[in-house]
Parts: sequence; C-alpha cells; structure tokens
Amino acid sequence: MKIGNKLTIYIVIALIAGIAVGSFFNTMVDQAWVLWIDKYIFNVLGQIFLNLIFMVVVPVVFISITLGVVSVGDPKMLGSIGIKTLAFYLVTTAIAITIAMAIALLFEPGEGKADLLQSDDVSEYRETELEGGDTEIAMEQTFDQTIINIIPDNIFMAMAEQDMLQIIAFAIFIGVGMIAVKEKASGLIKLFEQANEVIMWIVLAIMKYCAALGAFGLVATAFTHAGFGAIQQLGMYFICVLLALLIHFAVVYGSAVQFLAKHSFVWFIKNFIPAMTVAFSTSSSSAVLPVSLEAAQNNLKIRKSISSFVQPLGATVNMDGTAIMQGVATVFIAQLSGVDLTVMQMITVVIIATIASIGTAGVPGVGLVMLAMVLTAVGLDPAAIGIILGIDRLLDMTRTVVNITGDATVALVIDHQQDVKEGKFVKGKHKYADG
Ligand code: ASP
Repeated sequence: MKIGNKLTIYIVIALIAGIAVGSFFNTMVDQAWVLWIDKYIFNVLGQIFLNLIFMVVVPVVFISITLGVVSVGDPKMLGSIGIKTLAFYLVTTAIAITIAMAIALLFEPGEGKADLLQSDDVSEYRETELEGGDTEIAMEQTFDQTIINIIPDNIFMAMAEQDMLQIIAFAIFIGVGMIAVKEKASGLIKLFEQANEVIMWIVLAIMKYCAALGAFGLVATAFTHAGFGAIQQLGMYFICVLLALLIHFAVVYGSAVQFLAKHSFVWFIKNFIPAMTVAFSTSSSSAVLPVSLEAAQNNLKIRKSISSFVQPLGATVNMDGTAIMQGVATVFIAQLSGVDLTVMQMITVVIIATIASIGTAGVPGVGLVMLAMVLTAVGLDPAAIGIILGIDRLLDMTRTVVNITGDATVALVIDHQQDVKEGKFVKGKHKYADG
C-alpha cells in the first residue's frame, strides 16, 4: 500500500473545500449554528485525525531511527551523515532568514503603521504571554538547556512528552547497541522490523480512510476563525511572509533538488505532496512525520536509513518556514517601532533565529513563542507579537509546509550523494521516475 495519486487528489480537494467552507462560515462566525457546526463537526473531524497521527508519531520515530542506525551499520558513517545533515540545515535556515529580511526591507510592510503598536493586542500579549511566564521559560531553556536536554534522563517521559530530540538520541543508542552486540540482537532487530511494517500499515490506513475528512475539518475550522479583518490591516506583512516562503521553496529547494540531487522539482512535488497537504492542515511538523517519512521512502525512494534519520531530526531542528516568518516579523516590528536595524543587528537576527529553530518543537504556533527571543535579542519589544498573533494560524499552515519540505529536500540530497558514492546514480535518467 502507498499514498497514491487518487488519495492525494481527494486530500487536495478536501483542503480546497475546507478553505472555501471555512471562509464562508467566517463571514457569519457570530451565528450560533455556525459555531455549533464548527465545534461538533469540523473540530471533531480534525481533532480525531490529529490524534490518530500523533498516536503513531512516537513509535514511528523511535522504530524507524533505530532501524535506520542499524541499516547504516557503521556509527562513523552515521556521524558523517549527521554532520552533513546539520550543516545543510543550518545553511538553508540562514538563507531563509536572509531572504525574509531582504523582502521585508524591500517592501517595508511596517511603514506608516506605527499606530498598531498602541493596539490592545500588544498589551494583552504582554499580560497573558510575557508576564504569564511561558515565553520567558521557553527563552531561558533554549540557550542553556537545549544541549543538555538532548539526552533524556527518563525515556518514558521523553516519549510521553513527545520530545523528538530525546527520542532520537535514545533510538541512536539502541541502534548502536544493536550493531555492537551483533547477532545477539537479531531477534530484537526482527521485532523492530515487524513492528515497523505494522506501524507503517497503520499510517497508510489513517491516510486512506481519515486524511481527507480530517484535513477538511482542520482547515475549515482554522478558516472559520481566521482573522480576515486582521489580514486587511496586516496585508503587506502577510504577503511578504508568503512571498519569502515561495521564493525559498521554489528557488532554494528547487535548485537543491535539481542541481544537488539531480531530480526534477516537479517530480519531487508530485511525490511529496501528500505530506505537504497534511502539513498544511495540521500546522505541525511533528504530526506530519509519519506521513512525510512514508512519502519520502515509498514515493521519493529515499533510503530508509537516511530518511528515517534526517527527517525526524529536521522536524525539530530545521524550520526554514518558521525562520522566514521570524525574519519578516522582526523587520516589520522594527519598522513599526521606527527602528532602523543595523547590519550587526540583522546578523544577530540570522544567528538567533537559526538557534531558536533548534530544539523548538514542531507544533502549531511555537514559532511565535521563539520570535520573542529574536525580538529581545535586538532590543525590540516582544509584546508587539500581539499584533501578528491573529493571523498567525494561517501563516503557520504555509510555513509548516516549507519546514517539512526542507527536511525532505536535505534527505533527498544526502541520499543522492550516497548513490554517487556507491556508484548507483544513473546520469540523465530519473532512477525512480515512475514515482
Ligand atoms: N508549526 C510549525 C511546525 O510545526 C512551527 C511554527 O512555526 O510555529 O513546523
């Protein structure tokens, strides 16, 4: 079983229907019957789908990384794949923020809108988010705890909290242990392989029977509550984020797929689109992981050993789309505040936003929490986040698509490099063109 074209078309239709129905409902969102349908139909459909995929995230990541490590077979080679992966992730994220800031400086979305800083949204954000303490805790933890926190002190807690980095670390230890004890672990390896088959079957079944309805529900409810009024006010900011996302997607990923992985980008999109649609509807890189691993391994034919290592890591540490939002938002808020960012401050934004994306969980809205850290680093008021809060859900959908596409692109490039190393690459021909 794999995610076929027909199913992909159903999901895309469901997304479009969700956007249309949700936007229509948004025009009468104060009516009781609209709220009833939203709560008991859209939301229920969406949340059941979300729970179903979250249900399999931990086993998928744990099992597939362990098997990935075992199939690489050589911890040294794993180290070199790891270093290459991190290097690609850091470079693409830095490029993403640079594109974002360039676009925002060019189109000046914040010019003449200084009065937005006086709005209630800003004071409300200061009271509930900043003084409430969540953001501060998140900021403190990012710097000193991220590295320490990679190693779990309790694997059950790591799994219960769906802490991806800790699960990845533990899976690597188990995988390396399996390699070390060789045939003594053959039964356990077999067990993992069989568990992998079962869990991947469940992923496909969820996609086949629930994805279209679930995606419809999630998108319909998001658009029912979408702050369309706010979009009008913040139109230029909205467009700048979308434009930067599009440029990064088409130019950076397009060229990486075309020139570094020697595949056509259209072929890539056609085969990866099932995961993109789920990313759009869930706004969560972590939730979409089972589907993006499936699409990468079965549709893009990326080696399991590479995909199962590179993508889960990317779901946590590589968030180009999030970094783009942060780049545009920082310049936007600077413009609102009448601050001209110096070159040094812009470099600080690139560095801090890149660091901020590491260790940030791939769940909806977390990019905004991390934005507070970026703003503080360049002396801007983090409470200004309140201004963009209302429209962030819609941008979150699109930037999550970019986040996971970045992970799959890097996996494809590293897979190609491995092909070349092993003499498996056939020039001028799509090795896997049938998709
Ligand atoms: N929703 C994003 C993700 O899961 C993170 C964010 O930008 O808020 O990838």
